[in-house]
Amino acid sequence: MTQDLRALYEEVILDHNRRPRNFRRLPEGSNRHAIGHNPLCGDQLRIDLRVEDGVIKDVGFEGAGCAISTASASLMTESIKGKTVEEAEVLFRRVHDLLTKQGAAGDLGKLQVLAGVRDYPARVKCATLPWHTLEAALKNTAAPVTTE
Ligand code: ZN
Repeated sequence: MTQDLRALYEEVILDHNRRPRNFRRLPEGSNRHAIGHNPLCGDQLRIDLRVEDGVIKDVGFEGAGCAISTASASLMTESIKGKTVEEAEVLFRRVHDLLTKQGAAGDLGKLQVLAGVRDYPARVKCATLPWHTLEAALKNTAAPVTTE
């Protein structure tokens, strides 16, 4: 990773950890939920979605996790609001590839900085946890998600 990318990665993670977006329980009408847990790090989160007519109208997350899982969850909520369920599932797969495969291409905009986590293999699961939990919420899976 170049110096510039590393600086951007650190800046974005820091910013989203300090001020997580959509860090709240949805007030009313959420209809999809999932809980995720990464035992390696201790990250835990809950994601609530309000899906209407196949569109993610609102999203909120709660929980306690490290800077990377919190920032990844924050970026995720920002990027899926207003998308259709199908678009969010495509995004999940693309981000998962970005986080787990070297050289994964494609322009993911702001989410591209998450690729910086590949330099820290022990933290990759922190970054993927919110996305796996999103996937479970979209499918409304009752069983909690675990990275192990
Ligand atoms: Zn973590």
